[in-house]
Amino acid sequence: MKYENDILEAKKARLNSHSPYSNFQVGALLKCKDGSSFTGCNVENDGLQSICAERCAFVKAISEGKKNFEYIIVLGGPKGSEPTEKCLPCGYCRQFMSEFVDENFKIIVIDNNEVIEYKIADLLPNSFRF
Ligand code: ZN
Repeated sequence: MKYENDILEAKKARLNSHSPYSNFQVGALLKCKDGSSFTGCNVENDGLQSICAERCAFVKAISEGKKNFEYIIVLGGPKGSEPTEKCLPCGYCRQFMSEFVDENFKIIVIDNNEVIEYKIADLLPNSFRF
């Protein structure tokens, strides 16, 4: 499967999910253009200030000085099951990611073991810009 190693890393990160409210675990792997990568998982909070796996990975990378990103893999599913649900980023994450990526940035999701690639513009057309 394309992106096999990255998918495995995203699956591992997913196991760190803190999701006692939704019981929906999400993992992500963000690939930088320099070849490095950063994982993330969703971290929920009952103050409704949860962090999605995508933003978790971006914040980790940016805080380590990374600026150029190639793609992100996002996968998820209910706790205790394989992450086979098509797990598209929420609107907040789409807007957040758009700050840091160019038009060729890919968002890759897994749908029943099928790898589906989107471009940021597919998921966030006509996005807000200053
Ligand atoms: Zn999100």
